[in-house]
Amino acid sequence: MPVLGPETGFLEETRFLRFQYIIFVQDKRSEIVAGKLEGKVALVTGASSGIGEATALALAAEGARVAVAARRAGRLEALVKRIANSGGEAMEIVGDVGDDAQAHEMVVKTLEKWGRVDILVNSAGVMFPGTVLGADTEEWRRMVNTNLLGLMYATHAVLPVMKAQGQGHIVNISSTGGRTTGANFAVYCATKWGVGAFSEALRQEVCEDSIRVTVIEPGPTATELSDRITNPEAKEKVEAWLKSITPLESEDVAASVVYAVTQPARVNVNEILMRPTNSVAQ
Ligand code: NDP
Repeated sequence: MPVLGPETGFLEETRFLRFQYIIFVQDKRSEIVAGKLEGKVALVTGASSGIGEATALALAAEGARVAVAARRAGRLEALVKRIANSGGEAMEIVGDVGDDAQAHEMVVKTLEKWGRVDILVNSAGVMFPGTVLGADTEEWRRMVNTNLLGLMYATHAVLPVMKAQGQGHIVNISSTGGRTTGANFAVYCATKWGVGAFSEALRQEVCEDSIRVTVIEPGPTATELSDRITNPEAKEKVEAWLKSITPLESEDVAASVVYAVTQPARVNVNEILMRPTNSVAQ
């Protein structure tokens, strides 16, 4: 690097400034490439579609290694390839989160592969709206098993790992249905209110272990969630209502997860409530 002094001319000074500029630009580039989650390991349930899939992609884009879990193996394999093609690292874990042993296995496999679990995103969920009168109670069990028990099983399995690490972050995907309720959504909303209650109690239990707990409460989001509705009347209502608004995109919700998990360790973003701009109630 030239030493600027009376003996250096204008040309030398210009070269020096250009050299400094190049170093500055390179520094800025390496900041961008490094990613805020470099070195972190995340496990995302419900990652074969919708919010979970978008979250896995967003976390990987920030440099995290991501274990993606759900039941549809083909979708997970495609996601792992997509992440690898973008220069990230991921692995698929096929399993049913509503089964305690399988949910536990998701954490074990992540740990075996990468030796740690910094972030757990519980996104697996199902929604079967319909009135309580005449409901198929098997659908109730599926909602409770996946949305509530599944989230609890995965959390239960990961807590000892996070406690041993001295830090961790659990992000639970709830819903505006975890704050409000209405006809046809008694059981779905009951699971999401349950997620809220469970998450706040958990936060109080683990905050002194530097484990953070965040609840994300999105309003209607354009995903496959409503495709699986079996009650024709309820399905028609949900689809008509979705057409009447501009729903959130999965990437919008994923961005809120990234926001929460990239805050300084002293900051626990407890809740993020987000609605489509033109939706009144949900
Ligand atoms: P999707 O249907 O696109 O995604 C649901 C995911 O959960 C899929 O990957 C599915 O994968 C997985 N899943 C379902 N059951 C199980 C199970 N038993 N074990 C493991 N994985 C399972 O819907 P969303 O992305 O919308 O849903 C994600 C979360 O967001 C849910 O908790 C939902 O309640 C919540 N939410 C959604 C909103 C919306 O309007 N879409 C609004 C607010 C919250 P697979 O079938 O392969 O197992």
